[in-house]
Amino acid sequence: MLLTVLGCSGSIPGPGAAASGYLLEADGFTLALEFGNGVLSRFQEERPLFSMDALVLSHLHPDHCVDVSSLYVARKYHPSPPTGALPVYAPAEAPSRFVAAYAPNEAERASLDFSDVFSFHGLGAPVEIGPFTVDSAVVAHPCEAYGFRISCGDVTLAYTGDSGPCAALDSLAAGVDVLLSEASWTHAPDRQPDLHLSGREAGELAARAGAGRLLITHVPPWTSREDVLEEARSAFDGPCELVVQGGRYEVGEQS
Ligand SMILES: [Zn+2]
Ligand SMILES: [Zn+2]
Repeated sequence: MLLTVLGCSGSIPGPGAAASGYLLEADGFTLALEFGNGVLSRFQEERPLFSMDALVLSHLHPDHCVDVSSLYVARKYHPSPPTGALPVYAPAEAPSRFVAAYAPNEAERASLDFSDVFSFHGLGAPVEIGPFTVDSAVVAHPCEAYGFRISCGDVTLAYTGDSGPCAALDSLAAGVDVLLSEASWTHAPDRQPDLHLSGREAGELAARAGAGRLLITHVPPWTSREDVLEEARSAFDGPCELVVQGGRYEVGEQS
């Protein structure tokens, strides 16, 4: 399983840095995970425009999904559009959310549900997507939001999405080869609960779960990446690094 980082800027895109977007590839299948600000642009730098086979979204904050409305335009109006609807696994409000972002007025929204381009599926139960088994669980964030445990053969990656510490993250991450964890701020007692992980909390999660490797993502442009990494490393003594835009990470093989 190959993980490619399309974007990893937390909460907003940064200068030359897309928000959350990842590719997971195995057996010739391309699963896109998250599609935030700037990710459609980055996807085309990495792969042909219509080459993704399915899309999974953790939640519907803009930094994780807003480029889906532009993907609709591409798949609908490109002179050589792809055939068939793209499977999109997302929270229940995804269709209305993307239509609202696309259509400025009620009259246009009334005639759209994006089902001509996307086939929407909910989250919360294990599902087979190409060669991947994707398990999801509700995590601690202010909207319907999921973390994931994604397996292919005998390798497994967990992804936190956006979440504060919670039992669901511990179960999703238990014993994984790679934990792709958000860490949006440094540790402090006055952080808003049930919103994000600190660097220290990401490290503690990896340690409790016995993860083989910790990859830190979703650090906002206003937060020190070095401080977040130092915190994570202080709590987890396994391999730990900050992902970078364009980075490629083999899951299940230490390199
Ligand atoms: Zn976010
Ligand atoms: Zn969020």
